[in-house]
Amino acid sequence: MYAGPGVKTSPDFPIPDQMKAWVLGNPNELKLTEKPVPVPKKAEVLVRIDAVAICATDLEIIDHGPPASNQGGKPFNKNFTPGHEYMGTVVALGPGVDELPIGQRVTVEIHAGCGQCKRCREGMYTSCHNYGLNYGDVDKGHRANGFTTDGGFCEYQVNNINTVIPIPEAMSDEEATLVVTAGTAMYGLTELGGLVAGESVVVTGPGPIGLLGVAVAKALGAQPVILTGTRDNRLKIGKELGADHVVNVRNEDAVEAVKRLNGGKGVDYVVECSGAPNAVNEAVRMVNRGGKVCLAAFPHDETPVDVAQIVRNNIYLYGIRGEGKSATHRAEAFMSQKRFDATKIHTHTFPLDDLPTAIRYAKDRVEDAIKVVVKAKGAAAHRVAAE
Ligand SMILES: [Zn+2]
Ligand SMILES: [Zn+2]
Repeated sequence: MYAGPGVKTSPDFPIPDQMKAWVLGNPNELKLTEKPVPVPKKAEVLVRIDAVAICATDLEIIDHGPPASNQGGKPFNKNFTPGHEYMGTVVALGPGVDELPIGQRVTVEIHAGCGQCKRCREGMYTSCHNYGLNYGDVDKGHRANGFTTDGGFCEYQVNNINTVIPIPEAMSDEEATLVVTAGTAMYGLTELGGLVAGESVVVTGPGPIGLLGVAVAKALGAQPVILTGTRDNRLKIGKELGADHVVNVRNEDAVEAVKRLNGGKGVDYVVECSGAPNAVNEAVRMVNRGGKVCLAAFPHDETPVDVAQIVRNNIYLYGIRGEGKSATHRAEAFMSQKRFDATKIHTHTFPLDDLPTAIRYAKDRVEDAIKVVVKAKGAAAHRVAAE
């Protein structure tokens, strides 16, 4: 029977000893296997995973490893379960946990950090100095589920209580998986200064983070919000999520278009989500003097950067990783208040057993896929029965 020292469970949520879990073998090789259901320790809960979204970072990890780090190296052939954008139901409480009741629906953020390094103490737990040091005699207890510890392409996972965010009943499972994506956009805007009401913002690249970046910037009161990209169907969704203007950079020079749409001037902030090779140089020409640029995506190759433009104009560049400073909690607040409809970027749902199909849809953008969600069969069936 499932149990652990001091762990609380409930007869309403019976927990099996074993669960289905996808594990990473060689690069691009995922195998469906069985694992023991993990047991929460102090300050942790067990989450029954009801839905998990596929992220471009999952595709990176499955293809070549980083930013996942397992036992001090690449995550291949280590019985590692990827997946990090999940939501579910709290079904067991670790020793001493009374912050949440069993049965609470939650979404998660990824990084628990170690809780003891300088950056964790500052709330920058996505930049934890003990990233991935959770094994052997260097064990600092760091968790980043789906990166340095097992993630969400399975039926159950343990989460630190600081990484679970209660969600209202009215929020669907699919929508809840998108909270962490909005949280990343929120963290980017937080690092830029956070006070964006009345300030002009450009978001470059209408991927999931860019599109929700538009939504969050608008919800924070930015004016105007301009979205640039190459695909008209994505730009249209950006408009629906609050962009005041969209620019297809195939038809128009992006820097000139931004200035034209902002009264002839550069904007206050750029959130760069495209990872295009020339994106930094374009971003530093889109901002006004003293403007700030947040880099949330990157090209694989090193690229030359016009440093003189940055120095002469006192431009600030911020690299951001993940969703620190409890940004996910703030993103959830916007979403539960229906300040924007994140489900506009959810396009497909597959059962957990069909994960390889779901990944193919996300990777090849089959049928214009944006966010592809996978649901554990039990949870999917349960929900249908409840409706
Ligand atoms: Zn992600
Ligand atoms: Zn830390």
